[in-house]
Amino acid sequence: MNTIRTQVAIIGGGPAGLLLSQLLERKGIDTVVLERRSRDYVLARIRAGVLESGAVDLIREAGVGARMQREGIVHDGTFIAASNRGFRIDFRQLTGGSVMVYGQTELTQDLYQARDAMNGKILHEVDEVRIHGVDSDAAHVSFRWQGRERRIACDYVAGCDGFHGISRNTIPASVLREFERVYPFGWLGLLSATPPVSDELIYASHARGFALCSMRNPALSRYYLQVPLQDSVEQWSDELFWEELRRRLPAAAAETLVTGESVEKSIAPLRSFVAEPMRWGRLFLCGDAAHIVPPTGAKGLNLAASDVYYLSRALLQHYHEQDDHGIDDYSATALSRVWKAERFSWSMTRLLHRFPDQSDFDLRMQQAELEYLESSLAAQTALAENYIGLPY
Ligand SMILES: Cc1cc2nc3c(=O)[nH]c(=O)nc-3n(C[C@H](O)[C@H](O)[C@H](O)COP(=O)(O)OP(=O)(O)OC[C@H]3O[C@@H](n4cnc5c(N)ncnc54)[C@H](O)[C@@H]3O)c2cc1C
Repeated sequence: MNTIRTQVAIIGGGPAGLLLSQLLERKGIDTVVLERRSRDYVLARIRAGVLESGAVDLIREAGVGARMQREGIVHDGTFIAASNRGFRIDFRQLTGGSVMVYGQTELTQDLYQARDAMNGKILHEVDEVRIHGVDSDAAHVSFRWQGRERRIACDYVAGCDGFHGISRNTIPASVLREFERVYPFGWLGLLSATPPVSDELIYASHARGFALCSMRNPALSRYYLQVPLQDSVEQWSDELFWEELRRRLPAAAAETLVTGESVEKSIAPLRSFVAEPMRWGRLFLCGDAAHIVPPTGAKGLNLAASDVYYLSRALLQHYHEQDDHGIDDYSATALSRVWKAERFSWSMTRLLHRFPDQSDFDLRMQQAELEYLESSLAAQTALAENYIGLPY
């Protein structure tokens, strides 16, 4: 068996794994990233697009912020629409902060380029990854690559392998606690090479269901519709999608919407999920491996970034200062921020979607909450503070 040695074995070459690898290697800590898919496959995934300022700072610190700086779009606010009316939440005025619109696909590409430039070790299309000995001093990872059994001996393992990865289930069932809410609808997303309908995102609550107008750049728009879980992409022609989106938007936006052929169309289920603890011995969970949020609050990628922030600090403290406080506190520190983002994502989802079992009372509550949000600077400030991201 072919064995290599590294300080931190990272499972998963998504944004969490790549960013962690980049931050550690820049400070002289050796890592190996194991990714189940090909690079092309990872780079073709269309996912998140809104970065909190904390994530933006971390990306800059990792030395991969140049293109984001040039091409990313700073958003100082967002629109909330309901019943053919809309109002704006002014992040800048209410909090002094903002968010950056920059696609996860672009960020992942930047991270791969940066890793390549430093001769980073990323093994693609690995199979049968298993984590061993993280509850002892002999941690190692076994896997199959290019038809051969391999092994990495390491000090620590970072489980950055997303919701369906293997890292989380390495933690014994007697230790692991999971908290979950599955929502009774999904989001149908459509990417089109058309100019966005608005300079800022529009979150629309409508009797027919939620809609979101988002974007990746001035020539690439991302739109979403709340759809029943049973729906399939094949049922939604581009024409049907655009027609339904128009119905759910305020008239002014619907009239100016530029439509076009879809570049990508997919349905994502909505889920809230948290696994505790995020550390077990020499294994750390990071990003979607530990938690999932419904995308309504734009928090998925941002939480992956804040986990990476805490974990990179903890490992640097261990290797450079022989201090394990960061490692010991990692799970509690990360989870404290995770739960607040879970709460925000859940509350935005509850506020803006139609639920199949909603009573007339529930609908009036939703309406009252939206009216309160429109009229109260305190309520708007709370939303803005969470949307731009709580401090690390
Ligand atoms: C369809 C979809 C749409 C989304 N849209 C949004 C959005 O609009 N806004 C938002 O904020 N967030 C969105 N998210 C969430 C956001 O994309 C994630 O939170 C983010 O990707 C988390 O990064 P990660 O690196 O933790 O996990 P991932 O991006 O999932 O990366 C994990 C990596 O691990 C690899 N892997 C898995 N198992 C193994 C294994 N056994 N061995 C080796 N490698 C493995 C995977 O191939 C993957 O590359 C979306 C997620 C999905 C799935």
